[in-house]
Amino acid sequence: MTQTDQISFETVVREVADAVIAATDELTALDRAIGDGDHGLNMRRGFQAVLEELPAIAAQPLPQALQTAGMRLVMKVGGASGPLYGTLFMALGKTLPENPSRADFITAFGAAIDAVKARGKSDAGQKTMLDVLVPVHEALSAGADAKALRAAAHRAAEATVPMLATRGRASFLGERSIGHMDPGARSAEIIVTAAADLTEYAS
Ligand code: ADP
Ligand code: MG
Repeated sequence: MTQTDQISFETVVREVADAVIAATDELTALDRAIGDGDHGLNMRRGFQAVLEELPAIAAQPLPQALQTAGMRLVMKVGGASGPLYGTLFMALGKTLPENPSRADFITAFGAAIDAVKARGKSDAGQKTMLDVLVPVHEALSAGADAKALRAAAHRAAEATVPMLATRGRASFLGERSIGHMDPGARSAEIIVTAAADLTEYAS
């Protein structure tokens, strides 16, 4: 990885972490409606841990950096979302080469989504983070730029409102899960929105 890449990785991770941390109250409120009200706090704890170690993480080659960040998320976020987001980043790191092209990133993101599905025994359509990650991956594969990617993530998170939850804690509510945005879908939107500039940088 070149010096420029390291700076870009560090900047992107910092933007993602800052955005997640700034959304703590919003994510907690969403999780209070259809879960146990801890999603914002879980995510804040995890991304604060990543921020604390960021200089050391960013000094590693990109694949290792992503795996280290993913491990921190597994250890610190907790809940259902910690292992799932941790898996997403660890699998990205396992699949990406050191200097990824856009095509490499699309392949690795697809593999990371498959790893999340395997870990969560879940798929798109169940009112989870996958309902943002899968459409965003489709948009990316179809050539979306940063603006289009953000729009796809936003639409996808909004589309979880009328869904019936059949995975995760919200599924315990049955029909009462309908009418609320999934907290993990919203946190996935926030992560994608903050990281979307990467599409301009990888060619
Ligand atoms: P917990 O539900 O254990 O309190 P969080 O509140 O941190 O954990 O995270 C909840 C979010 O995790 C949900 O909104 C959903 O998006 C996601 N989630 C939960 N279970 C699964 C699963 N099996 N597959 C994919 N995502 C899931
Ligand atoms: Mg929760």
